[in-house]
Amino acid sequence: MAALEINNVCKDFGSEQVLKDVSLAIDSGEFLILVGPSGCGKSTLMNAIAGLEPVTSGEIRIAGEEVTWQTPAERDIAMVFQSYALYPSMTVRQNISFGLEMRKVPKAEREAAVERVADLLQISHLLERKPSQLSGGQRQRVAMGRALAREPKVYLFDEPLSNLDAKLRVDMRTEIKKLHQRLGTTIVYVTHDQIEAMTLADCIAVMRDGRILQLGSPDEVYNNPVDIFVAGFMGSPS
Ligand code: ADP
Ligand code: MG
Repeated sequence: MAALEINNVCKDFGSEQVLKDVSLAIDSGEFLILVGPSGCGKSTLMNAIAGLEPVTSGEIRIAGEEVTWQTPAERDIAMVFQSYALYPSMTVRQNISFGLEMRKVPKAEREAAVERVADLLQISHLLERKPSQLSGGQRQRVAMGRALAREPKVYLFDEPLSNLDAKLRVDMRTEIKKLHQRLGTTIVYVTHDQIEAMTLADCIAVMRDGRILQLGSPDEVYNNPVDIFVAGFMGSPS
């Protein structure tokens, strides 16, 4: 059974068709990278999976269960955006714990989860700080910690590293890869960085103008692009 299934999803904003019959299936533990030019509909697709935007038609399933009309909180997913969206008045500990509190997770379990992800992301020494007392990279770790604490079936990352400087981006990329290998999580990850795509992905989906043009392994997409657009986008040898 697929961890995440998207079947014939269409999304219109007014008269603009932004998603045009998108279908995708991702196996449990798979790292799927979604690439494509700015404005092609990547974030709209992520928001649809997360339940932040209703779809116009089609269906979305998580671990076999149809979630198309569920609220974001009802879906077993966690999302990390490029803007970290931490609660400024809360400490790091409270930021990580908050989503669990909303889900009525008992206090002892919440505390254990905070310790676990803080250790994993090496932010244990930052737990009592406020977001304003953290660097950009540290904030991004906290945002990831918040997602990891929930242990959802599917993680959605929408260009999570695009606001970081080049050095940090490389470090965080390595860490995300390690986390995926260690935890065996299912991830959908949007990036416009081809190197990020080639190094992180089990599978790459190339999107253009609201459609998925190609879905395959990094090797397939790079070496056997379906058309000149994919070739150009992936920097394939000609
Ligand atoms: P990407 O993430 O690939 O850059 P988006 O999914 O953000 O692209 O946007 C795809 C298209 O949908 C763009 O033309 C954008 O203007 C439009 N769009 C996105 N969100 C909205 C919205 N809330 N209302 C109207 N149009 C939107
Ligand atoms: Mg986007």
